[in-house]
Amino acid sequence: MQLLDGKKYSDELVSEYKKIVSDLDILLSIIQVGNNISSDIYIRNKIKYCESVGVKVNLYHIDNGDEKSLKELINNLNNDSKVTGIILQSPIPGIDFNKMVELIDSSKDVDGLTKNNIYNLYINNETIIPCTVKGIIKLLEHYKISLKGANVCIIGRSNIVGKPLALALENRDATVTLCHSKTKDLHLYTKNADIVISAVGIPKLITGDYVKNGVICVDVGINRINNSLCGDFDYESVKDKALFITPVPGGVGPMTVSMIVDNLIAMKKNSYI
Ligand code: NAP
Repeated sequence: MQLLDGKKYSDELVSEYKKIVSDLDILLSIIQVGNNISSDIYIRNKIKYCESVGVKVNLYHIDNGDEKSLKELINNLNNDSKVTGIILQSPIPGIDFNKMVELIDSSKDVDGLTKNNIYNLYINNETIIPCTVKGIIKLLEHYKISLKGANVCIIGRSNIVGKPLALALENRDATVTLCHSKTKDLHLYTKNADIVISAVGIPKLITGDYVKNGVICVDVGINRINNSLCGDFDYESVKDKALFITPVPGGVGPMTVSMIVDNLIAMKKNSYI
């Protein structure tokens, strides 16, 4: 079994990004609504990584439920030519997230969630795609794992991970099965898959019985148990069957953060993957 070491790869990307960013003037705006401890941690990690490669970051705070101020802020950032990209950090208590995302100028939509960017993903003319999706693809490419013709089982159909990931993998000629909480006999699908990707948020949901020998496991889940983090895979029971597996922490998470910079560079240069 070999680790798909997202932390190591993400650290390696720093020097590459530094060189590219030094010739560009990139400013990221992050908007946080209310107070949320998890959001604080995610935002801190994003700022730290961005600043380490020379991306400037401005963080804005909006009060819970203050939709008017949020709309005004998004509008101002859209119209500010100095702003390269905008992240609206989820959750935004008391305000409809999808409605607010749609107000972001799609050319500044770092998370790739506006209708325009999702439609381009849908028609296989990718522009900005969600950072977790891009991070998983880059990590698999880095370890020379081919997607063409691969049977991929994704568990979890969220708008931010599962659904766009299914489209992006189909665009790369994988055969994708998208499972969810109503899927009957989940193991029938996971057992047949060359690559199993779990984005559920249930600790140790996928045990060794669910996968075949030689499987590639990508664990998107981040679950907290007694102050430590674990993924959706039962690492101990899966590791002897897996050819590759992402650790949690240190797998998909750091790649997601790196892809913020990747997307910002693509936006600034107007060149997409
Ligand atoms: P989400 O919105 O929380 O949705 C979870 C998905 O899992 C839903 O589609 C749900 O099905 C499905 N599900 C729930 N129980 C299930 C079960 N027993 N069997 C099969 N499917 C089941 O998803 P998310 O926002 O994508 O987050 C998922 C996890 O990934 C969380 O732990 C989150 O913290 C983590 N995450 C990590 C990163 C990263 O960078 N590493 C990024 C984003 C999210 P239904 O649709 O039927 O309800």
